[in-house]
Amino acid sequence: PGKWHSVPLAPPDSIFKLTAAYKDDPFPQKINLGVGAYRDDDNKPWVLPVVKKATERLLTDPELDHEYLPITGLPSFTSAAARLILGPDSPAIKRGHVTSVQTISGTGANHLGGLFLSRFYKWSNEKKIYLSDPTWVNHFAIFRNVGIEPLTYPYYDPKTIGLAFDLFLETLSNLPERSVIVLHACAHNPTGVDPTREQWAQIAELFLKKGHYAFFDCAYQGFASGDLDNDAWAVREFVKKEVPLLVCQSFAKNAGLYGERIGALHVVAPTDEAAARVKSQLSVLSRSEISNPPAHGARLVSLILNDAELFADWKRDISTMANRIIDMRKELYRLLTDELKTPGNWDHIVNQIGMFSFTGITPEQSQALTEKAHIYLTQNGRISMAGLNSHNIRYFAESLDKAVR
Ligand code: PLP
Repeated sequence: PGKWHSVPLAPPDSIFKLTAAYKDDPFPQKINLGVGAYRDDDNKPWVLPVVKKATERLLTDPELDHEYLPITGLPSFTSAAARLILGPDSPAIKRGHVTSVQTISGTGANHLGGLFLSRFYKWSNEKKIYLSDPTWVNHFAIFRNVGIEPLTYPYYDPKTIGLAFDLFLETLSNLPERSVIVLHACAHNPTGVDPTREQWAQIAELFLKKGHYAFFDCAYQGFASGDLDNDAWAVREFVKKEVPLLVCQSFAKNAGLYGERIGALHVVAPTDEAAARVKSQLSVLSRSEISNPPAHGARLVSLILNDAELFADWKRDISTMANRIIDMRKELYRLLTDELKTPGNWDHIVNQIGMFSFTGITPEQSQALTEKAHIYLTQNGRISMAGLNSHNIRYFAESLDKAVR
């Protein structure tokens, strides 16, 4: 036995395992619906035209160097990122209540936000965080890593393939006061089910009444509806109502910068003086973990957010991605209901939002899709709409039709 004989072998990550199985499959009509990354109509990764333009500007900048960024990140990036999510006229920003730190994409923002709360939140008893059931699976490990126990609250109702709103509210109102609760800002992963604006407003009221802390995870701003402001509505409503909160922000999906690991953590504090103290501690934490964040993605996003022409280009690219996905939803719905007369109700396909759709099929049916039709998806029936395109959608609809009959 070697030195590390006591190290147990960990199972491979299920999504990455799915992609590996897909790659190994020689079947020509195979489809990968597991991946959480945008693909164009030819199933290719898409470099946003605005990112190409911004990259050119960067590369031709004679002043460009490779010095360290400040510990809390590129200031022109973090301040523009805060305005993007909280709104250009946000009173919280104007009063200096917002602290923003550059992070290793959305994952790093979740981690730093969790670490900060673990150290400094006034926990009433044990450190517990409440996650929607279901949620992005990585949430569990991220919070456990920083000594916070993840628990879940009801969110999704399999019967309606929609939001279990009453049960969700009731559960939140029965939690201890000042509980910390993770909310997906828009395009809930994995269900694609979001509260309506009226429901969000009710949720915010409940947070205020109970003194709960909102841990917003925003990985899809703009990607959900195609409109950056629309997708930031819930976060801004909570800020307006002065619910204590933080926001984790990712530019992986909406700027197609997955591998550049560019994101931010924004903490909204009650005063400018509290914000300064929060920032000082976030800086200490970040220093011990990454010293300084990576520069390339921050420079690209900073250019895009701070230049009117590039910002307009970006909005166009975002609506290209969002609209392609919305079109795929409509087409899948049309094929299932009008053409194939597939048994069951498929309204949720067009009602859900963002990259993912919870189809409502059983694990057995998911497995049959993989084994018989070479269509790769997670066992819970979640499909990435980005994996569908005009060439494969009919094959997918026909295979789904067969699987549920
Ligand atoms: N949060 C949610 C809900 C997500 O779906 C994702 C990505 O899938 C992330 C955070 C983090 O992504 P990244 O670290 O690539 O920004």
